[in-house]
Amino acid sequence: MKSLLPLLILCLTGSHCFPAGFETKEEDLQITQNYLEKFYDLKPEAVKLPRKKNSSPVVEKLKEMQKFFGLKVTGKPDDETLKIMKQPRCGVPDVSQFAITEGNPKWEKKHLTYSIENYTPDLRKEDVDSAIRKAFKVWSDVSPLTFTKISEGEADIKISFHYGDHYDNSPFDGPNGILAHAFQPGPHIGGDAHFDEDENWTKDHRNYNLYRVAAHELGHSLGLSHSSDIGALMFPSYAFSDPNDIQLSQDDIDGIQAIYGPIDNPVQPTGPTTPRACDGKLTFDAVTTIRGEKFFFKDRFYLRKNPYDPEAEVNLISVFWPNLPSRIEAAHEVAEKDIVRFFKGNKYWVTQGQDVLPGYPKDIYRTFGFPTTVKKIDAAVSDESTGKTYFFVGNKCWRYNEHRRSMDAGYPKLIRDDFPGIGSKIDAVVSDNEFFYFFSGTRQYKFEPQTKRVVTVLKTNSWFNCGNY
Ligand SMILES: [Zn+2]
Ligand SMILES: [Zn+2]
Repeated sequence: MKSLLPLLILCLTGSHCFPAGFETKEEDLQITQNYLEKFYDLKPEAVKLPRKKNSSPVVEKLKEMQKFFGLKVTGKPDDETLKIMKQPRCGVPDVSQFAITEGNPKWEKKHLTYSIENYTPDLRKEDVDSAIRKAFKVWSDVSPLTFTKISEGEADIKISFHYGDHYDNSPFDGPNGILAHAFQPGPHIGGDAHFDEDENWTKDHRNYNLYRVAAHELGHSLGLSHSSDIGALMFPSYAFSDPNDIQLSQDDIDGIQAIYGPIDNPVQPTGPTTPRACDGKLTFDAVTTIRGEKFFFKDRFYLRKNPYDPEAEVNLISVFWPNLPSRIEAAHEVAEKDIVRFFKGNKYWVTQGQDVLPGYPKDIYRTFGFPTTVKKIDAAVSDESTGKTYFFVGNKCWRYNEHRRSMDAGYPKLIRDDFPGIGSKIDAVVSDNEFFYFFSGTRQYKFEPQTKRVVTVLKTNSWFNCGNY
């Protein structure tokens, strides 16, 4: 059985993903040292990786970093840790205090001004203006703050683009790596946001989207630090999401409102929360096997479970499959073709590994023969032994023959006739060892197709190592 490349989920840009074994150990140690010095306040003199385990400042800092990113805390620069260290990211440290102001710096006024000191040649002036205006709006929408652009006098928050060393003790590093940094609230340089002019700034999907990076940096300008929540805008790595659809997570909203209070409206804004594997209320949009592992989809995220690791990995769908949408409604694997189909609305995508095959999305009517009354698929699963795929839509199911490429006669049928006991509204379904597992709300039904009966009722997160609760 083929397997997905381990950990490729953590690679955000091609230039930062090295094949395993590409670098020597010595280079890895150098990367580790540099990263911890830059972002974890490791003192340069404290370097030299230790002979005695678990006792050096490097190991301690490395553990701190691994904890922040939700990695296994090994204290060693393992592959997973090194992948994170090679991602493009914000230049603001994850743990060290700011050099400008101590404590919890904040603006003491609600109406702030900003200025754009210089412009990148990568974009038209009006595109820069628009990206920065939208980035401020992300924060003014969820806080009592307002932002006004001024072109004369000293603004509270100054935006500028710089190459390399620009005399604030935080030189930029050329293309990729550090993209930008910003200073916490305060006078003079306080609140200012600097962008690395060695990056190619864009207004679209190409790296790096100015609006996306600016929205993150302005979080620092307002007093927020980095969040270890992968779904948060304030997560330190540049994770690509649709640049026209930047959404603050609940974590970001909680952060800014903890500093400046709620908005002046009885209804407060809310944002998505990152799913937690052991949340007893967890429900799924879709579940599928992919080359021997299980992927559980929820909003913008997937949870990934391989048979050998008790911990589920949580990440953004867009990190693994940049061309897939969020809020997928159904997914199933056709193992003999080594493909996975993803459904949303009346469209579907076909992937192989992490590639979305060309020509997709396509509509579900022509390929599968659904009537146009079908607006979306709730759940789908393939039975490897028979080459049949079941589609669940409302209280009905269809059966598709993967070899003949057509729907079987006699369908649709009522779910309760073909699959008695699983209820009439299915969120997701996945097969495992000749059983089907149906997900409906927070329940999961283990179903035996041969005998057409429910064997066990489980919680949705029974696949994860959540202990007894
Ligand atoms: Zn940052
Ligand atoms: Zn700077």
